[in-house]
Amino acid sequence: TETKFDAIIIGAGAAGLMAAMTAGQRGRRVLLLDHNAEPGAKILISGGGRCNFTNREAPANRFLSGNPHFAKSALSRYKPADFIALVDRAGIAWHEKTLGQLFCDGSAQQIVAMLMKGCRDAGVIFRFDTPIASVSRQSMFHVKTEGREEFRAPALIIATGGLSIPKLGATGFAYRIAEQFDLPMIKPEPALVPLTFDQPDLPLMRGLSGTPCEVVATAGKTRFREAMIFTHRGLSGPAILQISSYLKAGDSFTVDLLPGANAREALLATKRTRPRVALRTALAEHLPQRLAHALAPEDDQAPPIGETSDKVIGALAERVQNWRLTPEGTEGFAKAEVTRGGIDTRALSSQTMASNDVPGLHFIGESVDVTGWLGGYNFQWAWASGFAAGQAV
Ligand code: FAD
Repeated sequence: TETKFDAIIIGAGAAGLMAAMTAGQRGRRVLLLDHNAEPGAKILISGGGRCNFTNREAPANRFLSGNPHFAKSALSRYKPADFIALVDRAGIAWHEKTLGQLFCDGSAQQIVAMLMKGCRDAGVIFRFDTPIASVSRQSMFHVKTEGREEFRAPALIIATGGLSIPKLGATGFAYRIAEQFDLPMIKPEPALVPLTFDQPDLPLMRGLSGTPCEVVATAGKTRFREAMIFTHRGLSGPAILQISSYLKAGDSFTVDLLPGANAREALLATKRTRPRVALRTALAEHLPQRLAHALAPEDDQAPPIGETSDKVIGALAERVQNWRLTPEGTEGFAKAEVTRGGIDTRALSSQTMASNDVPGLHFIGESVDVTGWLGGYNFQWAWASGFAAGQAV
């Protein structure tokens, strides 16, 4: 069997498949390795099985990174429209959900099949079920498998992703390679992840477990207006996943449970027009009832809204619209949709994704310190960075 290639790619996920297809189409001899038995495990479960494969628009400000400019080059050379064209040529039907998010009408399996066919047509050689024993660099990169095979190539692309969802085969392989070759790292942490809470907030959240509502979540200058859901450990839903990527341990953020409205004005209007209504009933006209009742608990002594002071009403409104929360932690890599941090972009060329100091060693996809918002952005980064490396090898 063949042992020498133009490029070896480790990791047959979103980024690795795109890089392999791109390099193969340029006539490069490509070997694509993965320790899983099948490619694209995360693509298959993404977007609830329908794969939110990109977003209508993917400007660089939808991505977090130690260097917010780094992603611009790759993102501008491979745009959402390029991936949409690929999907259209493959005859895959898709639809736009909310906020520019594009999903398959059918199943995420179609995306994996499309990429696999693209790789096959381009002559890419695959090895699945192939754990890697070691990587070394002599005149070329040498990749030894645990099955004692050895492959060589002048270019090595690391596409093994981040640490989220170890059950699906996620490992810290890219970080170990970075360490081996002395590349700097930004500490990998769970992102797009549900938040956990302690006293005093947890009992209320737990009591509301399963209740959805639309909110604005704000941390500093960053705000997301999306759905939130209470869980038995704290908070989840798109608004919370989004804001989680922006929080460091110990940071607080605020939640507006009544976006676009003025809770204080609304309650004071009820006080004037219908003074005999209970405060919680007045609030329930604006919020899901379970939520309103949790925020304004039943109390036999509680006077109707007409006899409630403006100060008490104001404090409740403040709680509704500017609820300051400090998470105890997150649900961790087991539940995180992505990993933020990773290979420090300062070590990489934004054009080729290659290491500045180790010629021929590329890192792409989630292994790199570029993390997208929820909404198809993480796949767009995987496609764009994979394309950049595939064009370069
Ligand atoms: P991956 O797709 O994770 O691929 C890494 C590959 O490397 C895997 O095949 C793995 O088996 C292999 N590998 C790992 N370690 C080794 C090793 N030691 N040796 C050999 N092979 C190895 N993003 C979106 O944009 N839209 C979505 O709808 C979406 N939904 C998601 C839903 C869930 C539940 C999760 C967890 C993530 C979702 N994401 C979504 C994020 C997206 O899946 C990732 O950002 C993206 O897959 C990253 O691509 P990647 O190629 O870098 O890594």
